[in-house]
Amino acid sequence: MSKGTINVSVENIFPLIKKFLYSDHEIFLREMISNATDATVKLKHLTSIGETKIEYGKPIIEVKIDKKKKQLHFIDQGIGMTQEEIEKYINEIAFSGAEEFIEKFKNENSDDADIIGRFGLGFYSAFMVADKVEIISKSYKDEPAVHWTCDGSPDYIIKKSQRTKIGTEIILHISKDSTEFLKESRIAELLTKYNKFMPIPIKFGTKEVNLPLPEDADKDAKPEKKTIDNIINNPNPAWTKQPSELKEEDYKSFYRELYPKQFEEPLFNIHLNVDYPFNLTGILYFPKITNDINLQIQKDKIQLYQNQVFVTDNVEGIVPEFLTLLRGVIDSPDIPLNISRSYLQADAAVKKISSYITRKVADKLKSLFKNNREDFEKKWNDIKIVIEYGMLSEEKFFKKAQAFALYPTVDDTYFTFEELRDKIKDVQTDKDDKLVILYASDKEEQHSYIEAAKEKGYEVLFLDSPIVSHLIQKLESENENITFVRVDGDHIDNLIKKDDEQISKLNDNEKDSLKEMLTEIIPKEMFSIQLEALDSKANPFIITKPEFMRRMKEMQKSGGGMFGMGSMPDMYNLVVNTNHELIGEILITKTKKKKERLVNQALDLARLSQNILKGEELTNFIKRSFEMIK
Ligand code: ADP
Repeated sequence: MSKGTINVSVENIFPLIKKFLYSDHEIFLREMISNATDATVKLKHLTSIGETKIEYGKPIIEVKIDKKKKQLHFIDQGIGMTQEEIEKYINEIAFSGAEEFIEKFKNENSDDADIIGRFGLGFYSAFMVADKVEIISKSYKDEPAVHWTCDGSPDYIIKKSQRTKIGTEIILHISKDSTEFLKESRIAELLTKYNKFMPIPIKFGTKEVNLPLPEDADKDAKPEKKTIDNIINNPNPAWTKQPSELKEEDYKSFYRELYPKQFEEPLFNIHLNVDYPFNLTGILYFPKITNDINLQIQKDKIQLYQNQVFVTDNVEGIVPEFLTLLRGVIDSPDIPLNISRSYLQADAAVKKISSYITRKVADKLKSLFKNNREDFEKKWNDIKIVIEYGMLSEEKFFKKAQAFALYPTVDDTYFTFEELRDKIKDVQTDKDDKLVILYASDKEEQHSYIEAAKEKGYEVLFLDSPIVSHLIQKLESENENITFVRVDGDHIDNLIKKDDEQISKLNDNEKDSLKEMLTEIIPKEMFSIQLEALDSKANPFIITKPEFMRRMKEMQKSGGGMFGMGSMPDMYNLVVNTNHELIGEILITKTKKKKERLVNQALDLARLSQNILKGEELTNFIKRSFEMIK
């Protein structure tokens, strides 16, 4: 037996470790299992290259709770350690690693506490939950087994052990304030969280299963029971396989394995697989995006793994923001986790990873569109938010999306932008050579405007995403001579102005007196009156909301836009069709009272068609209308 003192400058590092990682004590479990896994994988490698004659077999890692002794055991069949190795790796190197870790992070601000938890503290994280730790290990090298004990002070004891089996057992004497880790349910929960897909089978207790009945068994024969190891992980998750090995159903069942509480099937998946210039594998799924995006972002997020060890489900900075609505896994040993989020975003490797993922997603969408357009169109509504968001936030994605971003019409015809342009360029180019793209955001409310546009042979898009005004702004800035207007932005003849202007039935004098009279009757804080000589069949009064104003308000609501616009009162244009019979009639009406009645009635009808006649005014309108038809 020999005694030693761990050579550290910080006299008592353990209390510091404990205090420091207060909220993240649970990561010790991930660290213990990672070490056991590494040791097993190393042995596999050594046997495969003939370094050792030892039979590799089918090693497992076992986690055991000893409630009586208040101990937690981690038993592996890996390469083990000799006395010399324990002294080197545990006493010196691991310790200095822990020390360095504390030094590095003790001054970091609390925002980064999250990432600290993700950064492995290694073997010494055991002291976050234990006040004594033992290592019993037998190396694959022909040397006696060793037994190391350390009670949390820098002193340790090392002696020979009787163990003959190659491998390592780590025993944690769980401290009083960490007894939660002696509960089966807690350990099971953590094993599922961190180790669900680790490459070596992990045994945690046993379970009973029914043996299959023999074929000639009696009808009420009971199946025999058998006790087997309870293996908590799937050592070969789908993402570690080649895409050629997997069928559609395999991807779906892996999705259910990842998100057992998710009942909805994913729309499609994207298999990621690169080994140069960085290593990354993974599978991303496009879920149906519900209207409640916030809710969706919070649960069932993309999970980040490093060599099949769960790291986090906060992939901010690694995956471009617009793709955080997707689900699935990403596994890469090349993502540095021991740096703060802001550094992470500036890291060159991470930037490459992020743009690789963006490119893969774009390529997949393109091929889905090309190979089965009909199906893609059906899914469009469920995926458009992600795509539109991506087009707005990632320039490269915007360019690629030209090939598959769709613009549906109110009658469910789906155009790409180019197709749309070709389709409408002859009829929807105005006299100033601008191509005017009409759209509606609500088929019911804008029904009469949509119909008026269709009558002219125009196409009306149906764009209803919450970020559509931003997207439109972007498309206009990317395409010279193209402008978007919502169908209810003005009378259709004004939205797409052609050369063939209507001749006005009224002369200038008549127009002046009409304007004067209308200004007296109509509240000017709400309406700006505009006389127009339109088709005599067009409505006499048409209320419109200027495109610019409306869009700015919308953009501000969804973030961005012009400052202060959102708080402005609603202001409408009132287009008065001077060629309509009724207007002529109002002009020649003698009594003031009758004039007012006609104007108010016509105005209310126009408001009704815009769904802005409410409250007392609506009540008065109804009363007045009944009076009129008496
Ligand atoms: P890291 O795993 O990052 O190297 P650790 O502090 O977790 O740091 O472990 C230090 C070293 O101790 C490991 O590199 C390994 O050589 C050795 N070690 C730890 N646990 C085991 C184990 N179960 N079997 C064999 N070696 C181990």
